[in-house]
Amino acid sequence: MNMSRRRFLKGAALGTASMGALSAGLLSGCAPQNSTEGASGESNASAEKNTANDYPVLKQSSMDAPTESFEGDVVVLGCGPGGIACSTRLAEQGAKVLLVEKTDKIGGTGTVASGNCYISLNSKFQLDQGFEADIPAFYEEWLVAVHYHCDHGILSTYLRNCGETVDWLMDYGFDFEMREHPAVPGLQGFAYRISQPKKDSGVREKAYNAMVDKVKEAGGAFHTGCTGTTLILDDDGAVVGLRAERGSDTVDFMGKAVVIATGGYAANREMINEYCKVPLLGRDPVLNNGEGAQMSWAAGAKKPWNLGILCVDTRYPIDENYNTYDTGLRPLGTKSDVLQVDQLGKRFHSESAFWWVPTYGGANAVEYDQPWIFTIVDQKAMDDLAADNSNVTEDYLESMIGAGVLFKGDTVEELAAAAGWDPEVFANQFKDYNDLCKAGEDPIFFKPAEDLVEYGEGPYYAVRLAPTPFGTCGDLCVTTDMEVCGTEPGSVVKGLYAVGTETVGTMHNDYYWALGQTVGWAHTSGRLAGEAIAKSIL
Ligand SMILES: Cc1cc2nc3c(=O)[nH]c(=O)nc-3n(C[C@H](O)[C@H](O)[C@H](O)COP(=O)(O)OP(=O)(O)OC[C@H]3O[C@@H](n4cnc5c(N)ncnc54)[C@H](O)[C@@H]3O)c2cc1C
Repeated sequence: MNMSRRRFLKGAALGTASMGALSAGLLSGCAPQNSTEGASGESNASAEKNTANDYPVLKQSSMDAPTESFEGDVVVLGCGPGGIACSTRLAEQGAKVLLVEKTDKIGGTGTVASGNCYISLNSKFQLDQGFEADIPAFYEEWLVAVHYHCDHGILSTYLRNCGETVDWLMDYGFDFEMREHPAVPGLQGFAYRISQPKKDSGVREKAYNAMVDKVKEAGGAFHTGCTGTTLILDDDGAVVGLRAERGSDTVDFMGKAVVIATGGYAANREMINEYCKVPLLGRDPVLNNGEGAQMSWAAGAKKPWNLGILCVDTRYPIDENYNTYDTGLRPLGTKSDVLQVDQLGKRFHSESAFWWVPTYGGANAVEYDQPWIFTIVDQKAMDDLAADNSNVTEDYLESMIGAGVLFKGDTVEELAAAAGWDPEVFANQFKDYNDLCKAGEDPIFFKPAEDLVEYGEGPYYAVRLAPTPFGTCGDLCVTTDMEVCGTEPGSVVKGLYAVGTETVGTMHNDYYWALGQTVGWAHTSGRLAGEAIAKSIL
């Protein structure tokens, strides 16, 4: 559910039923409290300014009664990799966890993630395979990649603890395998340090189920169908609970700490448009509507400087209204031995890097300020596609042309005219590219020779692709104990923690540079938050 004026009105009414009519005064009645000790009126004012969204907070002392209420040691919102890891680690230390999830499923977006490049430095598993990582060198490499512009403490915490997380997960039935990542710029150094969580035979799902069972064994509970909407604060501004919607009911979950593990806002187009400044759509991350961030900001959490940071994929066929077409033409979006052009019909990057690391293609597309990328194929490539997929018929191709996803021309000039490019510009570009292929060398974008394949006879086709998000990468700043940072320098929002994708931006600059490591961070940040919270409250 996207944020809306309706939600504000509803939430505000819920929180202040006793205060009478809705008014400007009511807003300040719900004002967030910054938890800095001795916070002055000034710091509260800045917390209010920070909450430029329409989520309220509830004051425990003045809120209306919910339909139902539960009490535990810790409330964890979101049952993805981050929330599960945190809840399990808490349960291992004897905490009663209320794990609250809006769907009825375990695993969140983590169940669709492929898990490439899971960093597992010096896990027993990796050491057993003879791969010993040089953690300081890895740390330095990462810092160079992000121009040192990230939270060095968080990065170090991650790299020093990720191996142990892998060992811990394996105790619950996770299985990993070494993965040879292709040598691509910036990722070469990863090749001997990564492993991939296995997905076969539902091994990942079984492990997550075992972890949630652990939570229940320790007296906790898994509450499904509950969408968290509002944080509950005590009179000192500390977070002491969470209100959720369950159908038409309101359900309160009270505890000594609340952990936000809701996975970002990639499915919330309003937020994407506001913060990311690029025309992206929510594709796979359908679960992440940004409630966790919104309610945390309302409680006084700081918005990070790189709030709009994205992990972008660029391989999905799309029409000009950003509707995706995942079937049929999809394999053409993942070809590296092709020419790709921008909306002017000009080549703008190495198609090989685009394929191996779609986030690189995404970074370039975003930087280059272009909404679409076009992959060019000849008739032979289209015939090969049809041979592999019986759905790719003449009628299907016609329907894609009608939808504005596919363009066709008997000659390159006709293709250019169909796609809206200057025919001369595109014809020259096509010839130049074919010449590079003949020479077997790309002196411009340095594409590997094996991917330089000459085009055959027409007709020619262009498939429209666009940047779409794998996920947003961080709406909240955290300490190395995963406490959510407040708006005042050095402050935290007391009782509020965050893990997983909500916080992964802390290790990156303005773009998520390293493919496929968010699940790893979700597990490690969740595990470490579980340890820190148990230490502080049990
Ligand atoms: C197609 C695809 C491929 C990917 N591939 C990779 C990969 O190869 N490697 C990698 O590391 N990462 C990958 N990712 C990203 C990865 O899936 C996420 O980074 C990871 O799942 C984050 O874990 P999380 O626990 O932070 O959030 P999520 O997994 O998104 O879990 C959040 C949970 O919170 C629940 N929730 C959200 N809001 C509320 C609310 N208000 N109330 C109650 N519950 C709520 C959701 O339903 C969900 O269960 C991929 C993502 C996609 C979409």
